[in-house]
Amino acid sequence: MTKFIFGRKSNAFSKKKRSCYIKAYDTAFSQYIKTRDCLMTSGSTRYGFCITCGGSCSRVYDESIDPKRCGTNGHYIARANMFLRYDLRNNNLQCRYCNDFLQKAGWVKEAYREALDKKWGAGTAQLLEDSRFIMTKLSRTEMEEKTEYYKEEIAILFKQFGEM
Ligand SMILES: [Zn+2]
Repeated sequence: MTKFIFGRKSNAFSKKKRSCYIKAYDTAFSQYIKTRDCLMTSGSTRYGFCITCGGSCSRVYDESIDPKRCGTNGHYIARANMFLRYDLRNNNLQCRYCNDFLQKAGWVKEAYREALDKKWGAGTAQLLEDSRFIMTKLSRTEMEEKTEYYKEEIAILFKQFGEM
């Protein structure tokens, strides 16, 4: 139900709604990336190999798992950039240890750079770096459609390869 304050739509309400769309899109998208990369690196939907250290990590994110064994969706260019936040090459399976500790400290940048070019073709890392200042704003409809799209893609992968 839309809330109206003095006949106008509440801004606070609109802002909250927008963040909800982003959150739903983030969740579906990162689940898709992790599933895709588990399959690409191990052939299983259960685990895969970290883009930067090569260690095996789970598809499912679980804080109780050793950070080196816990899979996350690791962005090469930080996700504050909305243009690259949902770029299929900028997002890859990465263990929580590399993502949360090493990458934030800048220690795996070169490893990520090299892995990107190996995985997606020479020049990919540079291309992403060159796109880092491109500004974009996604509409709610667009985010909603993409969320549904990735949910369907995950369901297709699980149906085909099994969900473990
Ligand atoms: Zn790692």
